[in-house]
Order: sequence, then structure tokens, then C-alpha cells
Amino acid sequence: MTTIAPLSYEQAIERYEPVIGLETHVELGTRTKMFCACPTDFGAEPNTQVCPVCLGLPGSLPVANRAAIEATIRIGLALNCTIASWSRFARKNYFYPDMPKDFQTSQYDEPLCVDGWLDVEVEGELVRVEIERVHLEEDTGKTLHLGGATGRIHGATESLVDYNRAGIPLVEIVTRPVPGTGSRAPLVARAYVTELRDVIRTLGVSDVRMEQGSLRCDVNVSLNRPGQEWGTRTETKNVNSLRSVERAVRSEIMRQAAVLDSGDRIVQETRHFSEDTGDTRPGRSKETATDYRYFPEPDLVPLAPDAAWVAELKAALPESPRLHRRRLQEAWGLSDHDMQSVLNAGAVELIEATIAAGASPDAARKWWMGELARRANETGTELSSLTSPEQVAALQRLVDEGKLTDKLARTVLEGVVAGEGTPAEVMAARGLEVVSDTGALTAAIDEAIAANPAVADKVRGGQVAAAGVLIGAVMKATKGQADAKTVRELILGRLGS
Ligand SMILES: [Zn+2]
Repeated sequence: MTTIAPLSYEQAIERYEPVIGLETHVELGTRTKMFCACPTDFGAEPNTQVCPVCLGLPGSLPVANRAAIEATIRIGLALNCTIASWSRFARKNYFYPDMPKDFQTSQYDEPLCVDGWLDVEVEGELVRVEIERVHLEEDTGKTLHLGGATGRIHGATESLVDYNRAGIPLVEIVTRPVPGTGSRAPLVARAYVTELRDVIRTLGVSDVRMEQGSLRCDVNVSLNRPGQEWGTRTETKNVNSLRSVERAVRSEIMRQAAVLDSGDRIVQETRHFSEDTGDTRPGRSKETATDYRYFPEPDLVPLAPDAAWVAELKAALPESPRLHRRRLQEAWGLSDHDMQSVLNAGAVELIEATIAAGASPDAARKWWMGELARRANETGTELSSLTSPEQVAALQRLVDEGKLTDKLARTVLEGVVAGEGTPAEVMAARGLEVVSDTGALTAAIDEAIAANPAVADKVRGGQVAAAGVLIGAVMKATKGQADAKTVRELILGRLGS
């Protein structure tokens, strides 16, 4: 056995050029399944959302879901694809216990959408990722392996199957190989999946949640020496977060480089990404298309989308997330760096909604990227779960009306996040409103002057800076709830300075 010396990522990239490719599966959010009327709700009791069609019982006949076809065409259009005027479903034959029919109804050589592209931004530069195809198929059921240490079938004492997911419409989006990304390959992969997720979310056809499996990603990687032919690729599955997409590409580049450096060859295979170790492990050897014995599905009529319908769908597409972001950045007056921070924090939509609720762009960004982002970081929670854009806008309104100082507003926000009510309710319950009652303020100022006669004399004599002591005394007497600027004006007016 050859020993394989590990390489650093930098060494790997110095010696080899990566080519990446991504296959993404998106579960559509249709009300019913792809070929039957069963509901698609996530998390229902196992095997309660099934019928003869999605269980593949003999004699049952599928009927294609129009909403799923429409959603797939819209995804294709958003990815700049050509929509086929003629398209067919095909049977992909393989045996697996979570697939009751022993074949998956998918599409093979006649997919619904072909030849598109998606531009993604990586470190300020645009990278065009070409899309080979977007096709429609059905999801499989889910198996649960019990009794083993790993949750995998090996070592399990029993396995359970839940067919609720079987037959849920699934869109597969396949890129062409992406060469030339060099050391940025992991970032390009991550940026692509992120952008794809945002595009699909904008279309409203799926909730695209990686953690729930409604967006799933397989990552293909191969390496070649500069100037030589592309190498053998591996396909890594189980990549369940954006961060994992990046890590999987990086670790596969390092692994393959070490194998090639030792003089070995890369085996074409499916690998599994491990969240724990951050590396990939071999799975089954990769099937080729011929293994699946594809043939046109005889139980379904071909799809021939009407050109006028497709044109209508195209005209009604929403603005792309990238252009939308650019427009917001201009409207908010942010630098590239500041916009990137907002994006990284996942705060774009929150800030947008806060502005829509009446706050200025600066104020909206200040709260979400300041107090709230800090708190989300500290507690490891989602920014959006802390409070709502409406509450933040209401808080800022109290500041604008002079009822809260910035400092008091931060305290009020704490109460809002703790679930004590709206900003106005927290302000009232905790007694945090700025003391604007001139009577109360005047009394506090009189006391401060009486207690500090020497300071008062200095101010009367023109030493305005000395007023700080008096302002401090008043702020203390009002528990910080007076507006310092108003206090200063009142004191100076009182002492004739
Ligand atoms: Zn069904």
C-alpha cells in the first residue's frame, strides 16, 4: 500500500487545477405531490401522506402536477435557460427500499429547461456558472436505520421507511463543469449555492431550507495538472449547509491532490461529507447512466409548454436577487464592504422591511447590525428571531419623537427582545421615557445649581465647559432619562451664559 503524504490546501492548489460542478435538488413547495393529490406537509406522522400512486401499487396511474411544472419553468427562466417546447418524463430504474416503484420518475435526455447560467459574486468579481439542465422528478421516501452507531445501514439492527416524502416534486439543477476558479473553487461553490437559494426563494416556489433537506447539494470535484486534461471526478453527497459546501470542496481538493501526488489514481465514486470531521469518505462506486436503463415513461403524456404561457411566466419574473441587492446598496448609500457585512449577517430583508415600516436606512441598519447583531452572535440565535422589523421601526420612532434617547432605546430594545411587549409598552412599564416635563427638569436643575454654587459661578463667568458637572448632576437625578442636550440648554439659559 502506498503511503499518502498530506498536502496543505496551498500546496494542492499550486500543483493542481480544480474543476467543480454542482447538482442541486430543490423540493418544491407545492400543496400536493408530483403525480398524486397527497399533501406534502413536512413533519407529519410517518406514512400518513400516501396513496396507491406514490406507493407504486399495481394499476395506479400518475397525473403530472401543473403547479410543479410551472415552478420548474420559472426556475429555468430565472436561470436564463431555454425552455424546451417538447419534454418527456423518463423512468430511472434502480432498487432502493425508500423508492416503492423501484424506479424514479425523472427526466433524462428531454429535460424541461436547458443551457442557462447564473452569475455569482466572489470577492467582488463576477463568475458565470453555466447551467446544463433543470429537470423535474419525484423525491424518494426516507429510511431510518436503528441500532447502529452511525445511523447508517451498516451495523443497524432494523430499518424503517417513511413514504410521506415519496413523490414530492423535486427539481434538479445541474451545472456544467466550472474550470478556472483556482484557489477560489470552494468560495465559488458556496456562492453559487447561496445565489441559487436566493433566486429560488425569490420565486416563492420552495422554502429552500438546507437543514430540512428542501435544498440538497452534491458537489463534484476533479483535479488536473495545469495544461492537462480534466481528471476523474468524485461526487460528494450529504452536503447540508452552505459552509459544508465550501468545506467539502476544499477537503476534496486536498485529498485528491495527496492521492495524485503519491502516484495513485482517483476512483470515480460517490463520497459522503462528514460534518464532524470536515472530510469526505468513500460511498458506493458511481453508477453510470447505462446502469439506470432509462426509458420514456409510458404512463405520462409528454410536456409541451405553450410558448405564450412561457412568455407570460418570463415577463412576470421578479427582479434577480443580485440586481435587487445592488439597487438596495445604492439606495442605502453603502460601500461594498458595508453591504457585504449586511449580507453576511442575513439582515438585508430585515433592514428592507424596517425601512418599509418607516425607519430611515441609517437607523434601520444601525439597530440590526449593531445591538441586534451583537445579541444574535452572543446567543447563537437567528437575527430574525430576536424581534420584528415593525418593532425596530416603532423603537426608532420613539427616538425620533424625543421620547427616548439612544441609550434609553437600547434598554427598551432589551425588553422587547426579552418578550416584554412593544417598545412603547416596555418604555411605559419600565418607566424609561425621557423626562421632558419642564417642571421636573427645572426642579432638578435648581437643585444642581444650589448644590454646586462655585461651578454655577464659573458658568455665569463664561466658563461654559464647567456646565458638564451640573449636567451630570441633573442626569443622575433623572436616572439618565433626561435628554442631555435639553438639560444643557436649560442650564446655560438659567445661568445667562
Ligand atoms: Zn400519493
